[in-house]
Amino acid sequence: MTGLDSYASWRDVPSHLLSATLLGELEFPRKPDPAARAALVHTRDWSDHDTTVTLFDARRCPPTGASAGQLAAAAARATRSRVCADCAAWCQRLLPVDLDGRPLCPACRSVLLLRRAQAQAADDRAAAAAQLHTALHWPDVAVLQVDVTTPERTPGLRKIRTGINAKDDLADGAAAAR
Ligand SMILES: [Zn+2]
Repeated sequence: MTGLDSYASWRDVPSHLLSATLLGELEFPRKPDPAARAALVHTRDWSDHDTTVTLFDARRCPPTGASAGQLAAAAARATRSRVCADCAAWCQRLLPVDLDGRPLCPACRSVLLLRRAQAQAADDRAAAAAQLHTALHWPDVAVLQVDVTTPERTPGLRKIRTGINAKDDLADGAAAAR
């Protein structure tokens, strides 16, 4: 055990914790100081294998000794933008282009993901309503509400027991279809 915090995905990592690579990609790059090791993130590498990346607290990492000229040259070489395509924010980090192929800052990226989730939920809701409408017109239909309950894991229990608690919320098809 390392005693470091551990994250199951990059989504959960606070913005001030960066890998050595990300520290080097900052507009004003910083060196990964071993004393600033703060956490681990479990992720997939380029070949889709499980890997663990060490994260450093960027606030406690010293800047590199790069000169203004070296920083300008690195900026000219960068293939990704630091400017958000939606709100024009200038960010210290190079921005991901995985959504729509456009560089988005963390805030605009979250907004876009939420809007996509909303649109998907609206589609799912319409499909569910149509399916329910069809089902309620089946002959002799009955409606049963089922609440699936997963009990908490107990210290002595190796596997979680799953169970279904069915409520007696039964209605006849004619009543439900009205
Ligand atoms: Zn933005």
